[in-house]
Amino acid sequence: MGILVVGSVALDTVTTPSGTRREMLGGSATHFSASASFFTGVRLVAVVGEDFGPEHEKPLRDRGVDLGGLQRVPGRTFRWTGEYGDDLNNPTTLETQLNVFAGFEPVLPPGWNQTQVLFLANIDPELQWKVLEQTQACELVAADTMNYWIGSKPEALRRLLPRVKVLLINDGEIRQLTGRKNVVEAADAVRDLGTAVVVVKRGEHGVAVFGAGETFAIPAFPLRKVVDPTGAGDTFAGGFLGFLARSASFESEEFRRAAVAGSVMASFQVEDFSLDRLKRLTPGEIRERYDAFRRLTAFGAYPDTL
Ligand code: AMP
Repeated sequence: MGILVVGSVALDTVTTPSGTRREMLGGSATHFSASASFFTGVRLVAVVGEDFGPEHEKPLRDRGVDLGGLQRVPGRTFRWTGEYGDDLNNPTTLETQLNVFAGFEPVLPPGWNQTQVLFLANIDPELQWKVLEQTQACELVAADTMNYWIGSKPEALRRLLPRVKVLLINDGEIRQLTGRKNVVEAADAVRDLGTAVVVVKRGEHGVAVFGAGETFAIPAFPLRKVVDPTGAGDTFAGGFLGFLARSASFESEEFRRAAVAGSVMASFQVEDFSLDRLKRLTPGEIRERYDAFRRLTAFGAYPDTL
């Protein structure tokens, strides 16, 4: 199965304890596509400005991402500036410039409305809705969001939820969205709003999947050095949905494996800035780390003798 993604394509300026990088390729759809492309074909819908050159497109083209839905319009590309202190789970947003996204009208190229899996990556929920409305034939619809949109467009976001099967969201955001402090209760509240499966991303503390008949939780892969966490959430989503699309099965066992695949991809993403780690990542490394993850989380049954 293929995946259609709509989301941001950005130029990010990011400061982490490892340093500052300016105007590097980023955006929710960018990180998602690069990651998902290791598992299946990806079609990207987004907008960029005149300042977005062939050098910016190259990493995505090299990964075989179909950029047929990437509009180029007069103006400046979306920009995000963020900073991480010692808490690498939570960036402080210093600046968000919507630029060309402010007037963006997503239009799917012919035939793209037949794509089986749709990912509404983090972007204005009204734009997510416009893409959803154009794709009636999807077998799996998933979405992400962030505090910026939960705060500014909560109603647009709530309208989406009954149409979304899987919501990927981080723990701070799900608390903000539902007003519940307890993550289990917050996941229940989202499911009451109509979303069947809620995937709560908890940064270095791992990920929990609520729904699909059960709850499943795993830690993050333990890493000695995290260079830049930007894009970890989108990269997780790319691995998670890419894996599901590739296996073409949405059974709960597949959700478990997909969560591990997503965590593996995110663990590579944070090892370097922008797409630098994924650019040199190999399928063999993904398999190796998946196996290491299995060993990390495997344990025997409780002994009969106790
Ligand atoms: P994450 O995976 O959560 O770390 O997402 C990081 C990416 O989100 C960055 O590359 C940013 O360009 C992008 N981003 C930041 N703020 C927004 C926003 N308000 N809307 C869409 N994308 C954003």
